[in-house]
Amino acid sequence: MSIHVTNLSKSYGHQLALKGISFKASPGRILGFLGPNGAGKSTTMKILSGSLSPSSGQSVVCGFDIQQDSLAARRHIGYLPENNPLNTDMYVREALDFMAGMHGIRHKNARIDEVIRLTGLNPEQHKKINQLSKGYRQRVGLAQAILHDPDVLILDEPTSGLDPNQLQDIRSLIKQFSLEKTVLLSTHIMQEVEAICDDVVIINQGEIIADFALSKLHTIYPEDNLEKLFIRLTANK
Ligand code: ADP
Repeated sequence: MSIHVTNLSKSYGHQLALKGISFKASPGRILGFLGPNGAGKSTTMKILSGSLSPSSGQSVVCGFDIQQDSLAARRHIGYLPENNPLNTDMYVREALDFMAGMHGIRHKNARIDEVIRLTGLNPEQHKKINQLSKGYRQRVGLAQAILHDPDVLILDEPTSGLDPNQLQDIRSLIKQFSLEKTVLLSTHIMQEVEAICDDVVIINQGEIIADFALSKLHTIYPEDNLEKLFIRLTANK
């Protein structure tokens, strides 16, 4: 298992945002992390990326406990936060160079050339980020996330706000990355899950309410398609 979450809880003041969730994600697979707004997806992803501390429970990435062994765990994690917060005043290569420096990557220029090629940024690589379309900004976010060649990618709504062509391009990239990595991806788009995910975890009000391989959907829930299942499990709760 590349991601192993056990009994993870998080309170913000009096509000319990995660109520002891547990799940696993495996290499070479994309896990779609679904839930209505406020369910706890971003909170989980922030904890898994090492940018937020849980209240209790354990999260292990590639054998490293994120709280106990944060630096080692983070070497294996690439994170694209919700809304892809980029420094838009930077040039594309400058932003990648900055991130490569943070990771202490040797042979920076060669690696930057490689991720530019992998993410299809070649035609836009000399522009400032604020001159890029939303689709290309997402590519920069993904390029930053894969720079240090992590085994695990945590992508918080990576296709939100993209037009159909951009969406297709970013999904293809994610699919390509998943051949060699474990991908945990949150989304609201059920077609996206059907198009690229292997596994599904549904979270509602801080609790996991379904966890299955997509190929087993019709065996486990014979009367539902994914959208119906999602609505049925998360409505009126
Ligand atoms: P999702 O990503 O599924 O929309 P979040 O993880 O962002 O859900 O939020 C889960 C719950 O925690 C929500 O009720 C949200 O309002 C609350 N929450 C998230 N971040 C904070 C914060 N910094 N302070 C207080 N409450 C928060």
